[in-house]
Amino acid sequence: MRPRKRDKTVSDREPLENTKTILICEDEPALRELVRASLDGGYRFAEASDGYAALKLAQELVPDAVVLDLMLPGLSGLDVLAGLRRDERLRHTRVLVVTAWSETHEDIVAAGADDFLPKPFDPDVLKAKLERLLDGS
Ligand code: CA
Repeated sequence: MRPRKRDKTVSDREPLENTKTILICEDEPALRELVRASLDGGYRFAEASDGYAALKLAQELVPDAVVLDLMLPGLSGLDVLAGLRRDERLRHTRVLVVTAWSETHEDIVAAGADDFLPKPFDPDVLKAKLERLLDGS
């Protein structure tokens, strides 16, 4: 475990207008809730429970990041990913794919995902991966 930073103060927090928007695309309500809980209070969240809604909401909101389950009703997660990557306005949107299909890691990255997280996931790992994506490193 890394040592905890002791000198973090309230003034280090981002101003409200810089609050990042995370779109959670997942058909299981309990897992949407788990993603939100994993990332705690620092983000604005939107949720989609099927692939069509995921793509539509992404195009409306232009979120900073999308947490994308691959097994979605309607459009599959890979189809959603392809749609996101075709949209020039979403070129800065980071996509973290969450899926039980760990063997398709390379395919998922090749399809345009920025990172990948196998299910069942550790909430701390989800948070760390998303923060790293949003920091642009
Ligand atoms: Ca699912």
